[in-house]
Amino acid sequence: MEHGGEQLAAVFQRLIARYGPITLQHYMGESNARYYAGKDPLGSAGDFITAPEVSQMFGELIGLWLADMWMRAGRPEDVRYVELGPGRGTLARDALRAMKRSGLAPAVHFVEGSAALRRIQLAAVPQAEWHHDLSDLPTDGPMLLVGNEFLDALPVRQLVKTPEGWRERMVDFQEGRFVPVAGDKPMDAAVPETINEQADGALIETCPGAAAVVGEVARRLVSQGGAALLIDYGYDRPQTGSTLQALKAHTKVDPFALPGEADLTCLVDFSAAGEAASAQGVRHLGTVAQGHFLRALGIEMRADKLAAAAPEHASAIHAAMHRLIGKKQMGTLFKVMGLAAPDWPHGAGF
Ligand code: SAH
Repeated sequence: MEHGGEQLAAVFQRLIARYGPITLQHYMGESNARYYAGKDPLGSAGDFITAPEVSQMFGELIGLWLADMWMRAGRPEDVRYVELGPGRGTLARDALRAMKRSGLAPAVHFVEGSAALRRIQLAAVPQAEWHHDLSDLPTDGPMLLVGNEFLDALPVRQLVKTPEGWRERMVDFQEGRFVPVAGDKPMDAAVPETINEQADGALIETCPGAAAVVGEVARRLVSQGGAALLIDYGYDRPQTGSTLQALKAHTKVDPFALPGEADLTCLVDFSAAGEAASAQGVRHLGTVAQGHFLRALGIEMRADKLAAAAPEHASAIHAAMHRLIGKKQMGTLFKVMGLAAPDWPHGAGF
C-alpha cells in the first residue's frame, strides 16, 4: 500500500471539511493503524531500529529473566509467553531459545494488529497464536508477558491551556496542510486541580490506551499469575509538554506532514503506567533504565562470551551492547517496567 497515506490524508481532509477538526488522538490512532497495517517498518532499510533488532542479547536476557521468575515461582506447567506488538518476532525467537535452555517451553500468544507483520512473525515463530487485542487472550494459567516499544505507538490525548481555559488539541486542515489547533470545547473539567494553574500554552499529554493496556495486564497477572516487562522510551516522573514525534527512514519528520506514512510515537509516562498497574493490586517491581537492567542481568559477560566464540564479530558485538546500554544511546532513555503477580517472586534487576 504505497499510496495508503495519501488515502488516509484524503479521508482526514474530508472529515475535517465536513465536521471540523479531529482530535489528535484520532489522528495518531488512525495514522499508526494505517502505518503498521501494510509494511515492515523495522530495521536498517525501514524507518527505525528497535533493541531486539540491534542484538540477540536483548531477547536472550529477557528470556532468562522470565525463566528465572518462572523457576522461582515453582515452575507452573500451564504458563504462556505473551508478547504485545512483536514486530518481526525477533525478541520472541531469542527469548524462547533462552527459555528453552532453562527447561521452559511455553505456548506463545502474540497481540498484533498488522497483517504485514503477522506474516513475518509467522515465519519467525510458527507455533504462535495471534490476537487483535488483549481481550481474547486465555484467561487461565500464568503469563510471562513482554512488550517492547508497544505502548509508545498508542495514541495520546493532549490538552492545551489557552487564554479561554483548557482545550483539547485537535488537527485542522488549513492552506493545504494539517496543523494542530486548540479545540473550541472547554476541557477544564478534565484537568486535575493540582495542575490547573499553568501558563498559556502549557500542554498536558495522556495516553488512555497505554493506561488501559497496563491496567489489563496487571489485572490478568493478579487473577492468572505471572510477570511482565514493558520496555519503552519514556520518563518516570510526571512532566508537561508534547512528546509527539514522527520517524521516517531514521529521520525525524513533521508528525502532521504525511499521516499513515511515518511512525508516530510519544514518550511513555511510566509514572502513570505504574499507577494504572498498582491500582489493580499487582506488584510493581520497579521502573529502571534499560542500561541498568541489562547490566544487572549480565549483558557484559554475555557479550564477552559471544565475542570469544566468534572473534571476527567481537567489535560488532561490543558495539551492539553499547548501543543497548550506553547513556547517550538506549541505556538511559529507555525504561523497563517490571510487574508480577502478588505471590510471584521479586525480579532480578529491579
Ligand atoms: N516489539 C517490536 C516492534 C515494535 S513496533 C520490536 O521491538 O522490534 C510496534 C509494534 O506494535 C508493531 O508490531 C505494531 O504492528 C504493533 N502495534 C502498534 N499498535 C498496535 C495496536 N494498537 N494493536 C496491536 N498491535 C499494535
